Order: sequence, then structure tokens, then C-alpha cells
Amino acid sequence: MELLNQIFPLLLQPRNVVITTHQKPDGDAMGSSLGLYQFLIQFGHAVTVISPTNWASFLSWMPGTKNVLDYERQTDEANKAIDAADWIFCLDFNTLNRTRRMEEKLGNAAAERILIDHHQEPQVDKFAYGESDTTKSSTCEMVYDFILASGHDDKINLAVAECLYAGVMTDTGSFRFPATSANVHRMVANLKEKGLDHGPVHEALYDNFLENRFRFLGNVLLNRMEVFYEYNTALISIPQADLIKYNIKTGDTEGLVNYPLSIQGIKLAAIIIDRGEERKSSFRSKGGFDVNSFARKYFNGGGHFNAAGGQSKETLEEQVTLFIKAMKENKDQLSNYQF
Ligand code: 5GP
Ligand code: MN
Repeated sequence: MELLNQIFPLLLQPRNVVITTHQKPDGDAMGSSLGLYQFLIQFGHAVTVISPTNWASFLSWMPGTKNVLDYERQTDEANKAIDAADWIFCLDFNTLNRTRRMEEKLGNAAAERILIDHHQEPQVDKFAYGESDTTKSSTCEMVYDFILASGHDDKINLAVAECLYAGVMTDTGSFRFPATSANVHRMVANLKEKGLDHGPVHEALYDNFLENRFRFLGNVLLNRMEVFYEYNTALISIPQADLIKYNIKTGDTEGLVNYPLSIQGIKLAAIIIDRGEERKSSFRSKGGFDVNSFARKYFNGGGHFNAAGGQSKETLEEQVTLFIKAMKENKDQLSNYQF
């Protein structure tokens, strides 16, 4: 994988570009993809953003979303864009299998793949150019750094600023997590100077749910959460019947895993959701418990030190049993927790 700065001189020659990200894109995945899109189109490149799957409706306010292809629903159109591409930017994911049904097409593409990502252990041999930096708060911060390093700071318009702000804000838990560096705050200051109005971005992302999602949340906290005080751990497990009953859509379950972490003493929070086709797990920790290793070891997943996920074809009951076993195996680390 060559350094990203190798492509700076090439930015000035119009190309066919595809930008893609991980399945079920979150704020950082969508924000970095569209932020880069809004930047690149200003050079006259033909740019297509492809999401491997659908995305949460609360992300659809981002400028450019209406042009994003959903690979599962617009496969032919997306494949044509991939076939025609000179460059494929791969944002906010480390391994090609994070693109689900797109994995094979992406792996066989003739285009040069370019990685910009902050997850651990990327498949560097799959990328011609790229940057992987696990110390970065978000892929949006990395796209911002990329723009600055390319010398085209003047192309950060309002659309770019809104998209990048959305991703850095969501991936840092509203500027709370340890990776919220001075560089992040300098980035936000610069975006503000470019005219960013941050209030509407927060509202679009966090004050945009329907009533059913709140009723669902009430049910989750009351009936689906178990606290293991001895292990400083809480687990939420959600059967598919709940998703159907409360008419839960993509994105409605995002952030639920964080609720137990605000219980006094809880250092590890997990959620396992039966999505029908698979069981999706998410893990969050405070401080010294490494959920990336935990997700890799037990749940066929990965992510970051304090935020990771996985997926499985096992039943919800089997996954809950596995979690409790894994928690017990990590008792020393979890119960002797030191700040
Ligand atoms: P979430 O729990 O919000 O789905 O994901 C938390 C973090 O872990 C994100 O950075 C996400 O990209 C990563 N992650 C989630 N699921 C998986 C997975 O199955 N495999 C890997 N390698 N990373 C995952
Ligand atoms: Mn991210």
C-alpha cells in the first residue's frame, strides 16, 4: 500500500471514481463518503458513492445522499460504476468482507483501491494506496486531513463541512471519547470558520426519531437488559419479534448499546440483536477492557479498543450463552476494574 500523498498530483486529472464504505453505514461511514464526494466533484471527477446496503433514514439529510446507490437494490448500476472506475475509495472499513455482497466485485475490480480507515488490522495487500491510522477519531477526520494535505483547503465548502462534521461528531460520541484530540477540535474550528452551523446537524442526527423507537427503547431497558454487577457488565438481547412489533428500521437500534454504560460501575456493555438473517452484536467498554480483541476472539468481529461488533448465524440464545461464557472467562479483567 503506497502513501496517500502519491495521488495528490493526480487529483487534477478527471477520473471515474467510486467511493464505498461498510455495510449499514453509520454517521462516519456516510459522512466521510459524502464529504469526499463533495470534495472530489469540484475537480470534475465522475464520482459514484455506493453503499453496500441501505442506511438509517436519519443520515439522508446529508448533501448528496440522493445520488448514493444501494448495492443490494441497484446492483447493476453499481456494478457498471465499479467496472468503469479508475479509483475506488474504501472508507471506514478494514476488510473487504465488511461490504457484504459487494465483497467479490470489489476484490476483483480492475480499479486501484484506496483505503482511508481507522480500524485495526486492515488488509493492506488489497489496496494500491491508503492510510490506516487507529489513533484517529473517525474516517471523517482522516478525509479532512487528506484534503488539507492535498493543499485544497479552499474546496471545503458547506456541503463538505456538514458531512465531515456529522461523522466526527458521531464517532467521538459528541467529542467525548479518548480519540477526541486537539486535531479534532482544530478541525471543528476550521469547519466553523467555513460557515458550518453545527446545531442543525445534531438535530438531524439525534432529534429525528419516531415515537415507536422510544416505545421500543422503553421495552428494551425494562425487559431486555440484564446487569451482571459482579462483572461490571450489562447485556441487552433483542429478539426479532420486538423489531417487528415496534416496526424497527435500520438505524433505530444504533446507540442502544451505550445506555447501560451510564449505569454506575458498568464498564462493558453488549447488545445482541436477532436481525433474522443474522445475529448482530455490538460491544462498548470504558477504559482498559479491549472489546476489539473480545469481538475477534468470540464473535467473529472486530472494531476498535472501546467499540467493536460482530455477527453470527447462531441463534440468539446461543449467542447469549456464548457472551456469558466469554464474560466469565474475562472475569479477572472485568471485575478487578481500575480507573
Ligand atoms: P457497531 O457496534 O456500531 O456495529 O460497530 C462498532 C465498531 O466495530 C465499528 O467501528 C465497526 O466498524 C466495527 N465492527 C462492527 N461489526 C464488525 C464486524 O463484524 N467485523 C469487524 N471487523 N468490525 C466490526
Ligand atoms: Mn468510523
